[in-house]
Amino acid sequence: QAKQTGPGKLRFFDPAMQANASARAALEEDIRAGMALDQFMLFFQPQVCDGRITGAEVLLRWRHGDDGFVSPDQFISTAEQSNLILPLGNWVLHQACKQLAIWAQHEDTATLSLSVNVSPRQFKQDNFVQQVLTALASTGAPAQRLKLELTESVLLENVDQAIMRMSQLKEYGVGFSLDDFGTGYSSLSYLQRLPLCQLKIDRSFVRDLSSNPNDASIVRTIVGLGLSLGLEVVAEGVETALQVDYLRQCGCHIWQGYFIGKPQPLGEFEQMLRNKHRAM
Ligand code: C2E
Ligand code: MG
Ligand code: MG
Ligand code: MG
Repeated sequence: QAKQTGPGKLRFFDPAMQANASARAALEEDIRAGMALDQFMLFFQPQVCDGRITGAEVLLRWRHGDDGFVSPDQFISTAEQSNLILPLGNWVLHQACKQLAIWAQHEDTATLSLSVNVSPRQFKQDNFVQQVLTALASTGAPAQRLKLELTESVLLENVDQAIMRMSQLKEYGVGFSLDDFGTGYSSLSYLQRLPLCQLKIDRSFVRDLSSNPNDASIVRTIVGLGLSLGLEVVAEGVETALQVDYLRQCGCHIWQGYFIGKPQPLGEFEQMLRNKHRAM
């Protein structure tokens, strides 16, 4: 069934095709098979603070036979529309916690943190808090090293419930990041009520900040807003030294992007840590 399209290209990865019910059903079948075949893996994109790698964002990849690494844009929304995001997301969480537990045992890596993307459907599950606590407890990962990335839409849908869930996990040390900030319908009054630790400036504002004055002022404003609320502000999608300079001028010292490193397999990420370590 998973091989309905034959070996080679999976045509239904096309987002337009995902709107089609039978194409989506075929992709769901393929995701299920991919999970059974252990085809999913975590990539790690370094995050830096003042030039030091302090951790990584975990980004899911699908090692799909002939198609190489398939990126989440091509399957996350289908996984989200079905319930497949639940086992998949939980798997990501467990893998990330396992890695944190391993790093915690070595002096060089003990302070590294991981940011894990949480989908709306995952967050809205009744037992979401319990699932995170189970992942931490069963792996022995230090909760203070785990950050969960959420988007505005899921937080604003039911603010009181979101605050309650976040607060429960925050008591254990888990941090929360507001991902893709600036692209949703941010409500400033809610922003200050939410127990967040970080705002992540969406990559679309960072991309053109050197050439587009509007984007440059948006970035400066978001950094100012975040800092004044006592939050860390992280820039995503940083690709140039100019962007790093501008961000620093604005007071944003934490960032991730191709300029320091692409999302990469664990081995490469750890190699990068060792190289940086030696260079410093
Ligand atoms: P996101 O969380 O906003 O992740 C940032 C995306 O920007 C990643 O795309 C990353 O590869 C890309 N990126 C990072 N730095 C740069 C840069 O300098 N330039 C450019 N052009 N791109 C950069 P990716 O890995 O394809 O992930 C896309 C989205 O899929 C993520 O957006 C996130 O919303 C979702 N996602 C990824 N992994 C997971 C997961 O485990 N669970 C869930 N629920 N969603 C995930
Ligand atoms: Mg993210
Ligand atoms: Mg993001
Ligand atoms: Mg984004």
